Amino acid sequence: MRRKNLGRFILTFVLTSLVQYQAHSQSKPEAVAGEYLIKYKAQVNPNHAAQKMSNKVQMKSFLKGASTFHVKLNSKTGGGFDDSILMELKNDPDVEYVEPNFYLNKSEAGEIKVLNEGEVVSLSSSSGGEVTYSQSKALVQVNEAWQAMTPVGSSGDKVVVAVIDTGLDSSHELFKSIYDGGTGAIWVNHQEIPGNGLDDDYNGYIDDISGWNYITNQSNPMDDDGHGTHVSGIVLGASLDIFAYQLPESPILIMPLKFLDGEGGGTTSNAIKAIYYAVNNGARVINNSWGGGNYSRSLHDAYNYAYDHKVILTTAAGNSAYNNDIKDMYPANLDTPSNLSVAATDDFDRLASFSDYGISKVHIGSPGYMIVSSYPGNRYAMMSGTSMAAPFIAGVSALILREAPQLTGYQIRQILLDGVDKVSALNGKVSSGGRINALKSIENGLQSSALEEFQPGYNPQYGTERAPASASSNSAPKAAGCGMITKALLEGPGKGAPPSNVGVVVGLLLLPLIFWAIIYRKEKQGAEGIDGRKFDRYQLSSQVRINVGGQYLTGAIHTISQGGLSFDVDAALENGGIVKMQIQGPNGQEMVEVEGQIVWSKEDHAYGVQFTQAHEGIKGMIGHWTKGLSKSST
Ligand code: CA
Repeated sequence: MRRKNLGRFILTFVLTSLVQYQAHSQSKPEAVAGEYLIKYKAQVNPNHAAQKMSNKVQMKSFLKGASTFHVKLNSKTGGGFDDSILMELKNDPDVEYVEPNFYLNKSEAGEIKVLNEGEVVSLSSSSGGEVTYSQSKALVQVNEAWQAMTPVGSSGDKVVVAVIDTGLDSSHELFKSIYDGGTGAIWVNHQEIPGNGLDDDYNGYIDDISGWNYITNQSNPMDDDGHGTHVSGIVLGASLDIFAYQLPESPILIMPLKFLDGEGGGTTSNAIKAIYYAVNNGARVINNSWGGGNYSRSLHDAYNYAYDHKVILTTAAGNSAYNNDIKDMYPANLDTPSNLSVAATDDFDRLASFSDYGISKVHIGSPGYMIVSSYPGNRYAMMSGTSMAAPFIAGVSALILREAPQLTGYQIRQILLDGVDKVSALNGKVSSGGRINALKSIENGLQSSALEEFQPGYNPQYGTERAPASASSNSAPKAAGCGMITKALLEGPGKGAPPSNVGVVVGLLLLPLIFWAIIYRKEKQGAEGIDGRKFDRYQLSSQVRINVGGQYLTGAIHTISQGGLSFDVDAALENGGIVKMQIQGPNGQEMVEVEGQIVWSKEDHAYGVQFTQAHEGIKGMIGHWTKGLSKSST
């Protein structure tokens, strides 16, 4: 009987997903007709690969470093494309994958309200050099953050934020050089000599002085839409008052990379080129206020490339008012550990009516309703969307990186999530349950200025070949014990000896503690596990970061065994899918209990338990476990 219930649960879920998918799909084609991205295996000589394809497809471009070709199929007589070569390519052992060149779109919602001059003047600082934040009325404490941060010009490099979007109107008063009364916020490639027709820095781009335009394949990323200029003004506005009577010098630099056209549409091939460009040319933060409903392995690879290079990615969650946990939305849903999927909130910390959400796939809220920012033609406009929410976090990320440039994107992401203001409207809607707070983020950044760089290993589960970790999986880290904190470092700004009493946990930062454990697979072979172990071992990955008297304890939990779990899937489903999971301490005796919800993963074709918030007990217990750990880093 329980079996039946389980079956019904699966069926209902699949049907719901299908209905939602169909409602969401549009008549517009999903990919560029006849175009494909082909990734060859790393050891294959690209020249050899190109030669193999030369008579069969038209070569559009080659992305160095990613071993990826962008090709177009030859036309067939009588219309259409000759796709006979596709199967041949897919079966070629040299080829890693072939995928369509999907379309992507900007993530703005609703109407654009261009402000008249009087409305703009009223936003300016009234008198006495007062610093204000007027782009949104949400209580993000950004003015306070500016007071707390290291003053501009005193020290530190300016952090580069790539805005991969519709371009940027660099003639806007906000973005002009400081000598022309602007903020000087536009990134300049000093390795390149302007207008000499040469690729002086050998990065593959001729005269790329201030970004690139992937639509025209030229150096001028002029914004012919307005979206990118607005997004850029929000990135900048997180770092200074864009309505100040006298504009201050910007502490951050914006690298405009245009891949969305005048209507806000673009392609995956150009998006990934822009991401690689940003990473290779010094961006530490990348803002992506766009997306689409198709999983792309090449986009996933590009995100992972950014992760490997310590870059944080802020990504718009999307504006369909859907739950991204059950809807495909990319790149927002990519689980790259330095990707932050951002929902939009309004002035009163309500989730914006259009905003996508998802307790697993969406992480944080940020103001994205009626945001005032720059608009082409030296104007200002109000726009709404998760497109407007993500760049504020990109700007705050850059400010944290000014204070602690050694930190990885993974760590910045953690700092942002630790620093949210919990708001009721986001409870159960985003993983952190909160909206960004700039002051807390900067304060955490200042505290982290001596923290060592850290990021966990990431073994991507690609969309087309997803396989859940299971009892028989060999991918579980072998060295890891059951439910153990296998690695813990005591590190932090304090240079002295570790505090003698680590058991007294001050200002515990243990958020978000998200476990994903596969607990039930349809094809599971018996209760004892395939390899005959008494208890199945489940893979999960989570980092815990605990602030102990100004020092940080970080630990990574990799595996958990059923010996440390207590659950009954069928019974739990009948009880509304809520389960409690017990986690064993490193000594094998102590346990903590966290509550989670059983969710079905259509990628994994398995049930899992998703834990989003640990209750108070776990915090104390982990503090106790970590007591007496020796300092293992300098
Ligand atoms: Ca160049």
